[in-house]
Amino acid sequence: MNINELKKQLQLKEQQLLADMARGAADTRKSRGAEVQDHTDQVASSEMKESAFQENSYDWNILIEVRDALLRIENGTFGKCAACGQQIDDDRLNAIPWTSYCLNDQSQRDHKWFPKTD
Ligand SMILES: [Zn+2]
Repeated sequence: MNINELKKQLQLKEQQLLADMARGAADTRKSRGAEVQDHTDQVASSEMKESAFQENSYDWNILIEVRDALLRIENGTFGKCAACGQQIDDDRLNAIPWTSYCLNDQSQRDHKWFPKTD
């Protein structure tokens, strides 16, 4: 595991997320400023706001995880699963450097949050 490389990736991701959110906020401001012509425009504009909001909250959640991962690098707990304490697989960390769970615990959490409905 090349921690300096992962740290660079995390910092890059942090910058990208901040830029995306700033752009999203600017778009929302622009659409809010635009004269709403008629009902269809109103619907379109509120749908746009809704999807911008969802995108921003998704980006926000990832940003929190990225910053937590940078903190873990600083305090030396990076790469350890927050649930079982085991070392997280290198391939998984290279793919998702901000993950705080091993694959096993992540899939258990996913099942908990998104139970399969047969
Ligand atoms: Zn685990």
